[in-house]
Amino acid sequence: MSNLQTMQLPKHVSICEVAPRDGFQSESEWIPTDKKIEIIQRLATTGVKTMEVTSFVHPKAIPQLKDAEEVVEKTIDLPNIKFRALVPNLKGAERAINSGIKKLKLMLSATDSHSLSNANCTVQEAQDKLSPIIEFASSRDVEVGGSISVAFGCPYEGKVSHKNIETIIRRYNEMGVKEISLADTTGMGNPVQVFEMIGQLKEKFPNTTFSMHFHNTRGMAMANVYAALMQGVTHFDSSIAGLGGCPYAPGASGNIPTEDLVHGLAEMGVETGINLSKTITAAKEVKKMIGHDGGSFILKAGPNSELHVKPSGQSKIDN
Ligand code: ZN
Repeated sequence: MSNLQTMQLPKHVSICEVAPRDGFQSESEWIPTDKKIEIIQRLATTGVKTMEVTSFVHPKAIPQLKDAEEVVEKTIDLPNIKFRALVPNLKGAERAINSGIKKLKLMLSATDSHSLSNANCTVQEAQDKLSPIIEFASSRDVEVGGSISVAFGCPYEGKVSHKNIETIIRRYNEMGVKEISLADTTGMGNPVQVFEMIGQLKEKFPNTTFSMHFHNTRGMAMANVYAALMQGVTHFDSSIAGLGGCPYAPGASGNIPTEDLVHGLAEMGVETGINLSKTITAAKEVKKMIGHDGGSFILKAGPNSELHVKPSGQSKIDN
């Protein structure tokens, strides 16, 4: 076995495509509904099995996603794909479920400062408000997952204590939520921290499934994925072409790009069930449709398998 313990990496991981929510909501220019639907249809051809298709937020909060109902209505029947939607409150949950969504994602911040700026209340207050959503969802046979934003670093408070995270997870568990997404919303995490945190959380919450949502704001997302893999994590979010910015750093890289993640995992022998070349084609098209990417490496460099003709003649120094 090598020093990097590649033998211990999971053989297969699931990827949830979040561009239609996280990516679109970061775009200031209106993306027409038809274009959103076209992108979702295109993404569905890559073999991805789950997609965060939109967020049922108040249209005034995120005007870009005001067409959530229409987007879901026109894509919900795509085969072999499970949609989830982010919902910030009961009203959003009702809209989502009435549109046919079978899985909700709830959102909390790891710190009070972020929660106050995002949701206008403390973390505990925000979590108390989730109960009616969870009850409503279970009465309609709809799954619920929880998420924790800024789990690996808060733009206002800096480092986040494990205690904060544990308290939130414990309360999620008490409410019956056993699937938790840890989000590095502003790309402040590092692999050592990720490895340690997941190690501790897995020990304390053995019956909770953790998924990772890494932004690549500071270039650490792929390293963080590797650290999470080393802890046996098998659920990751990513966004086609790396769409999805950082609200505190305009122009910064977005979510880890799906094509970078699928490529990187395949190179490490970790299967995703997603077709890499279809994903790269989709990423190119999405980049063209949106007008930019969010810091995709594979779109710039191409996959490893795209070999080049060996140059003849003079040697080049390209170490
Ligand atoms: Zn995000």
